[in-house]
Amino acid sequence: MFLMQSGSDLQFRIIYKMKLANNPLWKYHKCKKCGLYAFRKNVVIGEGDFPSDILFIGEAPGKSEDLLSRPFIGPSGRIFREGIKRASERTGIVPSYYITNTVGCRPTDEYHGKNREPMKEEIVSCFPRLRETERLVNPKRIVLLGQVAQYYCGSHFPNSLKLLHPSYLLRQGGIECSEFRNFVRELSDLFLEVGGKVVSKPKRMIRRTRKKKRKKS
Ligand code: SF4
Repeated sequence: MFLMQSGSDLQFRIIYKMKLANNPLWKYHKCKKCGLYAFRKNVVIGEGDFPSDILFIGEAPGKSEDLLSRPFIGPSGRIFREGIKRASERTGIVPSYYITNTVGCRPTDEYHGKNREPMKEEIVSCFPRLRETERLVNPKRIVLLGQVAQYYCGSHFPNSLKLLHPSYLLRQGGIECSEFRNFVRELSDLFLEVGGKVVSKPKRMIRRTRKKKRKKS
């Protein structure tokens, strides 16, 4: 796969690797604390700023994430990022966030195998990494994406917000499904709660301003 990449892709990967090496969680990149190390290509330590307004915790890295050592870049990751983009457009707010998963390594049982859910003992083994991530990110709010993160991490992060996992949204039809619209609404409420960089007027406010202008004319 990497033989096919363009010069700019390669440049991006080199810069990204250098950035990763500056992440204080990089120390986990050779972790062998649980059996998931056996078939992984990379530990996915997460992505974002320290500190950040929001910490998103998903289930586990998939195939694309494992290959490139980046979280949420596969098909369900694209749904997630689209949700973030739309919530920012609705509210005019771009909060800072860090994204990670309950485990740092892709759960699979063979080379070129299928993804599976992480097991309890794997999540427990990886929890010190997650706890350290939370400490470094120091978020105003934690969001648990999907049942696995909610079931195993809910009691550790009692004030967290629980949202559907993007892979579930993908199975329901992606950005066309009503669940995705709810997902964007819930993210919008969260953005208004935590605040962040104000980039534009909220869409609803823009619509109201337009109505007023139409009435006047
Ligand atoms: S899943 Fe976590 S604990 Fe297990 S090997 Fe990967 S980084 Fe280490």
